[in-house]
Amino acid sequence: MNGVSWLHGEVSKKMFGGIWKGYFPEESHVGYVTNGVHYPTWCAREWRRVHNKFFDANFLNDESNERIWEKIYDVPDEIVWKTRMLLKTKLIDYIRERFRENWLKNQGDPSRVVSLLDKINPNALLIGFARRFATYKRAHLLFSDLERLSKIVNNPDYPVQFIFAGKAHPADGAGQGLIKRIYEISQQPEFIGKILFLENYDMHLARRLVSGVDIWMNTPTRPLEASGTSGEKALMNGVVNLSVLDGWWYEGYREGAGWALTDKRTYQNQEHQDQLDATTIYGMLEQEIIPLYYARNRKGYSENWIRTVKNSIARIAPHYTMKRQLDDYFERFYCPQAARFKALSANGAKQAKEIAEWKELVAERWDGIRLVSSERDDVANGSQVINGEEFCIRHTIDEQGLDDAIGVDMVLVGTRDGQDQFLRSIPMNVVKREGNLYTFELKTSLDLAGTFKVAYRMYPKNPLLPHRQDFSYVKWFN
Ligand SMILES: *Cc1c(COP(=O)(O)O)cnc(C)c1O
Repeated sequence: MNGVSWLHGEVSKKMFGGIWKGYFPEESHVGYVTNGVHYPTWCAREWRRVHNKFFDANFLNDESNERIWEKIYDVPDEIVWKTRMLLKTKLIDYIRERFRENWLKNQGDPSRVVSLLDKINPNALLIGFARRFATYKRAHLLFSDLERLSKIVNNPDYPVQFIFAGKAHPADGAGQGLIKRIYEISQQPEFIGKILFLENYDMHLARRLVSGVDIWMNTPTRPLEASGTSGEKALMNGVVNLSVLDGWWYEGYREGAGWALTDKRTYQNQEHQDQLDATTIYGMLEQEIIPLYYARNRKGYSENWIRTVKNSIARIAPHYTMKRQLDDYFERFYCPQAARFKALSANGAKQAKEIAEWKELVAERWDGIRLVSSERDDVANGSQVINGEEFCIRHTIDEQGLDDAIGVDMVLVGTRDGQDQFLRSIPMNVVKREGNLYTFELKTSLDLAGTFKVAYRMYPKNPLLPHRQDFSYVKWFN
């Protein structure tokens, strides 16, 4: 019944649209609740100490309240920076500790391993990318232009380091190939210690990464990322997102609180699109992100960077908490479902039986239910309807002895790029009944300009149904 982000909801309406014949994806009952993350699990202790001091005492019971998170603006910049640096150091120590032995054992030359570990620099801009290595996540994007990448990471004044981590599905050869490629690049002399691949991505490593890097990067092929959650974990740890406008980031991104790759697709050819997206990322890093990060004051940090961090925490984090997610589930799905269950099951499931009987009856008589006659004003009869001018349409339908069980809509459909485009559906009212014959009328005027198709559809009408697609019988007529 629901997607896991707004965009995923929209995509799902289209994907599953074919199930409910006679309705457009725009009319689908499929909704969405955007995934959130569990604050006590994902917010580092170091940040929780800051929050305890500056946030409302009731914070944990009200963790999606933007007004509470706004207090992050009261936290002195030095404290934000110190907390970030503390977590960064912790991540680097963790990497040195956890991987040293394994790498010494498996990666041949011990002096190289040691120098690689020593090269991880807490003062460099640290960018993390960790997730399942499904190919749609495009971990390879950054490596489209190795020369340009090498210039970025090897700038002596403004160094940048990347950490990659993630597993591929055992049956996903292409995903495994990506890991191999990134590992091999990370072993080239110009990338040693600048591009790191960490194996065995798990929740421990995830916790260190989403709190320890400066930027969390995600580069999926749109619109394949249903939600994504790791970027939400990063948010509450003062880590800023750089991501494609897909999944949760499509609705989460705010200007001045992270970076977004546009949602507009320029090329049909995926390879060209990948190249363009890679170029965009390099450009953003070179022109915007790196200068912002290194605009350091005398105290050793960039005030505008801290501002970005604070914006991201204050304006985005509250909306991607588990509290907000659960509130949405309760409001949009659980509570209505619970109420419906109660109503359906009361008195030995009286209402459920009623609906089932009614559906059987309608299904039995459906083929005989038909349009008997139509009357239309001249304006609506021909090819033109004058904007703003009222017109009237009447349809008489034989309901085959059913008692006011049919509804009729006028449906307007436009075309865009040669494809039908749902514009609107306008219900018609019953104005007369004679035996089995019901007359429906619509007196209206339109405020739409241009060319569009007009058609009518009848459907079984019953206020006890949760939505129209619950009993998706539709008959179209002109
Ligand atoms: C959060 C998390 C994920 C999911 O990350 P996405 O960005 O949604 O792909 C995967 N694995 C681990 C270990 C995680 O902690």
